[in-house]
Amino acid sequence: MNTFYKIVLGLSLLLATGCKQATGNKLYLGNRQIKVVATTTMIADLLTNAGKGRVLVESLMGPGIDPHSYEPRESDVSRLMEADVVFYNGIHLEGKMADLFEESAKKKHVFAIADGLLPEDIRKEIQTNTPDPHIWFDVQLWIKCLEFVNAKLIEIDPDNSSIYETNKKNYSATLNELHQYVKQQADKVPKEQRVLITAHDAFGYFGNAYGFQVRGVQGINTVAEANSGEIGSLATFMVKNKVRAFFVESSVPRKNLEKLKEVAALLDPNFMLSSGGELYSDALGSKNSAAGTYEGMVKHNIETIVKALVP
Ligand SMILES: [Zn+2]
Repeated sequence: MNTFYKIVLGLSLLLATGCKQATGNKLYLGNRQIKVVATTTMIADLLTNAGKGRVLVESLMGPGIDPHSYEPRESDVSRLMEADVVFYNGIHLEGKMADLFEESAKKKHVFAIADGLLPEDIRKEIQTNTPDPHIWFDVQLWIKCLEFVNAKLIEIDPDNSSIYETNKKNYSATLNELHQYVKQQADKVPKEQRVLITAHDAFGYFGNAYGFQVRGVQGINTVAEANSGEIGSLATFMVKNKVRAFFVESSVPRKNLEKLKEVAALLDPNFMLSSGGELYSDALGSKNSAAGTYEGMVKHNIETIVKALVP
């Protein structure tokens, strides 16, 4: 039996002996805080803001971790076991954790924050029509996720609804300001320079919301390898359109971007391709860094993009 199935079996056995202390969605908490487990650092940050004063939040994945390829560890089972409620992204972002969520949902509250969006909010990858999980890159969609999380926290802890409503009011004001800031920064980049080349296709929602054409060396999932044909066509596109900067990502290896640079140099030896800097895509920065919060990450990304693309 491989490790993954051992984990799933272990979780089933543990949950079978556990007890869901809830009637309907309300949890019986007494005076203690709600233990929340989130999968990614972005979701942990959202819960920290939405549940300020009432929740203790833990993130399964740390900074620099790629959620597409993340395999649950045995220690994750006990963290899920101890949680009152679990929040994950959904739209197959955590592709290798679906069985764990299914098992956990039999005994505790498990919510996909993407369920807070409408079908028309979900972007699809053009070639494959696959739904794109990177919803956090459109700040206005993240506000909808905040509203969803707020509603779920009130369902399970209705006695403290006024705390959650205040948190929502404060944090949605912060996010609305952030959305305006990203728009103002993006407006500094001339229209013909608004092309974002990244390691994988994480920035489609960003592109739609703030007016950038986005191309990734890999598709919306990092699990499938980029082939040389895809790298070749992207290099041709960059040389033809004089797109000189590519961006590395904190949670994706750089090898494909290095390859892209080599191929572009073969196509046109005078064409100098350079790194525009590092963007945070599928994980926040380390805890005490400027990009260690969602707000800080979004600001870091747009400021890095503007610096690289404004001539
Ligand atoms: Zn991704």
